[in-house]
Amino acid sequence: MAKPLIVCRDLSIIYNQGKPNEFKALSGVSTDIFEGEYIILFGASGSGKSTLMYSIQGSLPPGEGTLLIKGDDIYSYPPSERVYFQRYVMGIIFQQFNLIPSLTVLDNVALPMIFCDADKATRDRRAQSLLDRFGVGHVSHKITPMLSGGQQQRVSVSRSMVNDPKILLADEPTGNLDSVSTQQVMDKIDEINTFDRRTVIMVSHNAAHLSYAHRVYYLKDGRVVREVVNPQRKQIKPVREGETIVTELEELARLFPYDSIETLRVKSLVNFLTQDYSFSQLTRLEHASSLFLQGRMEREAYIKSLILPIERGGIEIGEKEARRMAGVADKMISRSDDIRRFRAKKDNDGVFFSQHKLAERLKEYLVKEYNISLSKEQNTNMVESIADRVTGVVDDNEMNKRMMKGIRAGGLAFSEKEADQVSRYFEKLIAQGVDVSYKS
Ligand code: ADP
Ligand code: MG
Repeated sequence: MAKPLIVCRDLSIIYNQGKPNEFKALSGVSTDIFEGEYIILFGASGSGKSTLMYSIQGSLPPGEGTLLIKGDDIYSYPPSERVYFQRYVMGIIFQQFNLIPSLTVLDNVALPMIFCDADKATRDRRAQSLLDRFGVGHVSHKITPMLSGGQQQRVSVSRSMVNDPKILLADEPTGNLDSVSTQQVMDKIDEINTFDRRTVIMVSHNAAHLSYAHRVYYLKDGRVVREVVNPQRKQIKPVREGETIVTELEELARLFPYDSIETLRVKSLVNFLTQDYSFSQLTRLEHASSLFLQGRMEREAYIKSLILPIERGGIEIGEKEARRMAGVADKMISRSDDIRRFRAKKDNDGVFFSQHKLAERLKEYLVKEYNISLSKEQNTNMVESIADRVTGVVDDNEMNKRMMKGIRAGGLAFSEKEADQVSRYFEKLIAQGVDVSYKS
């Protein structure tokens, strides 16, 4: 296995050590960051994110513990070597841009190259080509205060890349930007990671950014309290099984705001179909289910891909189980079609769906699925609950509670177990049948 590029072991950092205002900003922090990874340091203000970043950058020596970059203790370097390291190994972007206002955009970007051998024309050419690449080449002769915040940040992205660093550090780079500029800057940084294959370490407290990273270290009160793998990105650091999260559609949408709804649906369905499968089986099952959900794979082909041995690209599920899964998925897809047609106000075989008719039908599905027999009052209440849930009048919790309520109170008098079962299935139907507008 490849060695990590950056290793922090039991790192502690104390500000103003020995003084009355001594403050321990980091304690016992351990991280392994691999070459090519995109890492986000996430946490509330004051949790120590910037402290950790500046320590990695070489300007905050650890009080305790070790920090190695490519196996080297950068704090043992003589000053000239440390400067070399900071100038040519690390690029950095700040929240406040830190551009020099009296210089032109071009000179700001070319400045870090002043100590290298290249002549001025070469330096300017390189600066200009980076500015062009990041979409601010047309303002290269302006002074920086003439630029918008988003433009200034793209200038500092250009500057950070000018010496072709291996590692890009970014301390809340979008903290001062509007949403359009934020998106542009995030996309450029993403490109630097995925296209230029640079290691990126970003400090952020915006949850919408998490989907960019391979992994996220959550900091709280100077400690790393959690490390979360982004299941959406192919991992560089080896992943231990069960380290990723797959939850319901809306939670998924919150976690992965830039994913398509189809991807989230696949995740939700696969989660329902599986219990004891390994990560790689799940990934393959997701792939096959995705084709099946999109109608790009027939039922028999889907079943076959579930049964096929792992080494032949399959998932190695027993035939009986595979057929059961395909049956469940098939039924769920066709049942959720009713919801989709209703929500999309689409004609169903020439007959417009009324809300009541939809709720009646969904009730029939649930009754069939769980072999429930209902009294007349229960029947009425169930249709009403379903109509309320499918139109969003109540949320999943309220629907679940209502099923446990007495019949007089509009409920179904279900046991907790029954209510959980039925509402779980119903939430799955909604997940397949309702589009979530999750982009803020
Ligand atoms: P974050 O980037 O997560 O907002 P920081 O790493 O900047 O947090 O700061 C962590 C803690 O260390 C904060 O409580 C902050 O007040 C304190 N701190 C940061 N820099 C200094 C400093 N130079 N001197 C003393 N305390 C500091
Ligand atoms: Mg900070």
